[in-house]
Amino acid sequence: MDNATRLQYLEAMGIDVWVPRTSANHEQASTLDVIADSARPEPADSWEALQAEVAQCTKCGLCETRTHAVFGSGNKNADWMFIGEAPGQSEDLQGLPFVGKAGQLLTEMLRAIGLDREQVFITNIVKCRPPANRDPKPIEIETCKPYLLRQIALVKPKIIVVLGRVAAQALLNTDEPIGKLRGKIHALNDTPVVVVYHPAYLLRSLLDKRKAWADLKLALQTVKNIKG
Ligand code: URA
Ligand code: SF4
Repeated sequence: MDNATRLQYLEAMGIDVWVPRTSANHEQASTLDVIADSARPEPADSWEALQAEVAQCTKCGLCETRTHAVFGSGNKNADWMFIGEAPGQSEDLQGLPFVGKAGQLLTEMLRAIGLDREQVFITNIVKCRPPANRDPKPIEIETCKPYLLRQIALVKPKIIVVLGRVAAQALLNTDEPIGKLRGKIHALNDTPVVVVYHPAYLLRSLLDKRKAWADLKLALQTVKNIKG
């Protein structure tokens, strides 16, 4: 017997039935119920939920050619967050960021400022490898970016170091050239952001290594200036 039928029986038997208020039987309250619902805070985001979403994501075309979505690696409570462009071939195969040649140089760059990879969090603007390592398209960046913003909100780093032109322009919503973006402190909400040349570029352009070193020192000084 369903609930409505059961209520009809009970009422027919003269039994007073208490019916809980729902928006269906109480039209006037329904608008207030809707307002109360929209004012209720979203359930808190979690690292595990986010990781699971990224692993199975099919929101953009890059899902069709990837082997693994690359979520990121390191310390989820890190003071430092490093953001690259997109996974390359080795990253796609291993499911980890910056594990190829550029990754080795990134590890060296970290060591130069006294950090190791387990201490920081490393990820990319897009989580899946673009075919033949082409630049990610604006639509792919925009589709994937909410994952990065959720990672940043969960890690709450003291500083973000963004690696290379594509990642810097995507994160800072600008089309300024990297030569103008490097060498100063930007901000994403309240978090300071420093732009550093991409290690894959530094492997080809040794002359700019000096500038990259200056930018890493700027980042280090910025963190030191933050209390706590
Ligand atoms: N280049 C990037 O930008 N990210 C990686 O993870 C590897 C190479
Ligand atoms: Fe999803 Fe980002 Fe991968 Fe596109 S690149 S499928 S948005 S995880």
